[in-house]
Amino acid sequence: MFVHERLAIGGEALTDKDNLTMSRIVTGIKPSGTPHVGNYFGMIEPALGLAQGHDATYFVADYHALTTVRDPEELRDLTLQVTATWIALGLDPNRSVLYLQSDLPEVCELAWLLGCVMAKGLLNRGHAYKSAVDDNLEQGRPVDDGVNAGLYNYPLLMAADLLLHRADLVPVGEDNRQHVEICRDVATAFNHNYGAVLAVPELRVQDGVAVIAGTDGRKMSKSYSNVVPIFASTDEVRRTVMSIVTDSSRPEDPKDPDACNVFNLYRHLAAPEDARALAVRYRTGGIGYREAKELVAEAHEQRFAGSRDRYLTLMDDPGTLRQTLHNGAERARDACAGLLAAARAATGILAGV
Ligand code: ADP
Repeated sequence: MFVHERLAIGGEALTDKDNLTMSRIVTGIKPSGTPHVGNYFGMIEPALGLAQGHDATYFVADYHALTTVRDPEELRDLTLQVTATWIALGLDPNRSVLYLQSDLPEVCELAWLLGCVMAKGLLNRGHAYKSAVDDNLEQGRPVDDGVNAGLYNYPLLMAADLLLHRADLVPVGEDNRQHVEICRDVATAFNHNYGAVLAVPELRVQDGVAVIAGTDGRKMSKSYSNVVPIFASTDEVRRTVMSIVTDSSRPEDPKDPDACNVFNLYRHLAAPEDARALAVRYRTGGIGYREAKELVAEAHEQRFAGSRDRYLTLMDDPGTLRQTLHNGAERARDACAGLLAAARAATGILAGV
């Protein structure tokens, strides 16, 4: 099934009703770990749908990944993994723009301009920062223990990414809703002070996809080592799926499918009629978690085996992947030319004058 056939955001297919024809769609993914099915269903799949018929600019957010990745070799490898993932899953880099964030370092300058009008309190409330602080408090450590300034400023850099390209619409997973709201706030503050320089983007979260849970029940995230990868081998995916933590119900017990992480993954991976059939078996009892996990592993294989072959071929040719990113950056630079100059001029910065 093509991804765009499944596209329904905000409960409705995105059509002319949304007046989005040729709107600019911008989103990114950070290469801080192997891309996972949470990234896929939360953002990649809807973003691929939107790339059909719209002006899509998607980036690999390597500056953002620096907040957690300390090994340069690893960062380079993960950057190529995320690039190959986009293409293997269906993004056409000739039609859409796919670029590497650090190929457009202009974004860091825009982040500074934005940071000077941004209320610091917005960053205090950033969910990643807050959760690090909460962890520290719980463990009796100093509030900012182990928190780097990059993590704190993460939403600021993300706002600059989106505003640099005059994004009209930003598809993200539910967990990233707050970051786009922060971007809207800072763009409004900038425009309030300097005039209508920045476009304030709309946010879209895929309907029916909440935050996908990882194998340990927390949000599936590259930062938590709890991911079901998109492109691991059949055996590795099976092993990972079999390790999903479940409760102690027995196979014969009726179970609530909506409260089960295994079922939630199946619901996303399998055809709707298969998911409905499994939900009935959950409710009546007679299926154990082991069998349900086997079904998840099979559905994963069916869903991603074809694109995994493409992914492996792409990863065999890192030079071409790098060239693709270079080409994307050239096009992205052309498309956003003028925005930074306008922002500088509005603030009174004389560079470029
Ligand atoms: P991660 O949290 O794994 O590091 P990123 O921050 O790179 O992922 O997020 C890339 C995109 O994937 C974002 O739009 C984010 O909202 C989405 N996303 C990440 N994890 C999940 C999840 N568990 N469920 C749904 N969407 C997710």
